Amino acid sequence: MALDAIRDQPRAVALLRRALETDRVAHAYAFVGPAGAGRMTTALAFAHALLCPRAGCGACRACRLATLRQHPDLHVLVPTPPETNPKGARAIRIDAIRELERQAALRPAMARRKLFVLDEAERMTGEAPQAFLKTLEEPPVGTVMILVLPRARALPATVVSRCQVVRFEPRSDQAEAALRAQAQALLAEVRAEGAEVMFRRTERLDRETAEGLVDAYWLFCRDLVLAKAGAPASLLADAGRVAELAREAETWTLDDLLGAIELCRQAREALLRNVAPRLTIEVILSRLALRAA
Ligand SMILES: [Zn+2]
Repeated sequence: MALDAIRDQPRAVALLRRALETDRVAHAYAFVGPAGAGRMTTALAFAHALLCPRAGCGACRACRLATLRQHPDLHVLVPTPPETNPKGARAIRIDAIRELERQAALRPAMARRKLFVLDEAERMTGEAPQAFLKTLEEPPVGTVMILVLPRARALPATVVSRCQVVRFEPRSDQAEAALRAQAQALLAEVRAEGAEVMFRRTERLDRETAEGLVDAYWLFCRDLVLAKAGAPASLLADAGRVAELAREAETWTLDDLLGAIELCRQAREALLRNVAPRLTIEVILSRLALRAA
């Protein structure tokens, strides 16, 4: 995905483009904004542009490797559950930061720079922020760190003040409503016509659309939980469909709905690990439309 393809965030993209054009790239960035605003997609696009000798041409070996998430100079950190408890709270722990520190001290393998993208950086726990601060204070040459954060205050000010802050606006209501409608249309179609139509419709899904759809299904499942609990329409994301949601909620058990929400969370993570967009959407649709495990 090229930086040009990022819609909805003209200010953030302009700032990053200027950095690329003038070759004045900061050691650390904080991409601050709500989930679903395209922070991670933009971080990866910016990383690609920095790893490619032609600023993200999309065609060279560096670009191909970056797209496959196999570029040796691109490191993506995501919070993980404790080793001993796969269902425990996900966090970026001190071990992960130590490993980052070790990698950052090495020379780039292919590109001019090494890129570190920390998704949900606010999930640094314990000594991790302090250890990370040390790396920020003495950044190894040619290292660029990108922290993806919901709010600037989600990490200690000492950390954020060493980053160039790039703000992301919430995705517009219109764009969100369009994705919600697309998600519902797809769901209805698969319910009516089965798995075959699902495989056809998901064939050419791009990553950004897949992310939007996962978020839409996530909100849909949350709405069903709320509807099941008899919550007022004002609490629903899709308040216009309150009666429909209440009817649908009756056909689900609470456990199944919570399982579906967990599935959406995993799908979001899978997209970050570069699992094919079609697979992640197919897994969710199988559960929501076909009620398959
Ligand atoms: Zn390239």
